[in-house]
Amino acid sequence: MQRVLFHDTIFGPIHSRRLGSSLGVNLSPRDGKICSFDCLYCEAGFNAQGPGTTGFPSRAEVARLLEEKLKAMKAGGEKLDVITFSGNGEPTLHPYFPEIIDDTIRLRDKYFPEVKISVLTNSTRLSSPEVCEALNRVDNNILKLDSAVESTMRKMDRPGSPEFTTERVISQLKQFSDTGIIQTMILRGPEIDNTSDTEINALIEAYKRIRPRSIMIYSIDRKTPDETLRAVSHEELNLIASRIEAETGIPVSVA
Ligand code: SF4
Repeated sequence: MQRVLFHDTIFGPIHSRRLGSSLGVNLSPRDGKICSFDCLYCEAGFNAQGPGTTGFPSRAEVARLLEEKLKAMKAGGEKLDVITFSGNGEPTLHPYFPEIIDDTIRLRDKYFPEVKISVLTNSTRLSSPEVCEALNRVDNNILKLDSAVESTMRKMDRPGSPEFTTERVISQLKQFSDTGIIQTMILRGPEIDNTSDTEINALIEAYKRIRPRSIMIYSIDRKTPDETLRAVSHEELNLIASRIEAETGIPVSVA
């Protein structure tokens, strides 16, 4: 079984297609995965591998490790574009996520004031005002919306809670209108194809309701736990992006 990708709380910097030179922050356990989705395409593997044994890193440990790394990078004259919360799971599930964001802003301002802070979130914790306020304090909140068709979202992202619905998340995402970046995975599999007209039309309607700052579409780039999934070519992604941009007036990038 495909296992977690990141075995450190602070990892990289790595060159990211989407974000440039990116220092990663993994708020999940170092030897397991904790996520409120269980996406078929998750590069960290399925949730069935379990949460591991190390637990969430403490707030103090995250701050200590991040400061050590930023200090060393500054001393070494290393280039950095962005500090990115991603890793083996959903960062907003960490019980001290808002406080960790505040620590990260303080450390960024101290060592690399020009660097951006990004959070990749699956949008499942937008009913928490504290989480939303923390997301609004960072430069780039990148919020997942893979499909606006309920049955496709359930097959593709496999949310843990039956209360999580496309209608609910689209309504919640409206609070990030003009500030959030919506990220959508486009792929094909035996039971899923979110490139169809029905899917793209539903996404366009959802993007129009949310009116985010921008939209980012991408496809599979690494091994996925469900090996029947297929990537969509860059050419096709570009065609989809042009159509979405023309119909919504919102900038769309292909990663
Ligand atoms: S939301 Fe992200 S971490 Fe969670 S299962 Fe999906 S891809 Fe993996």
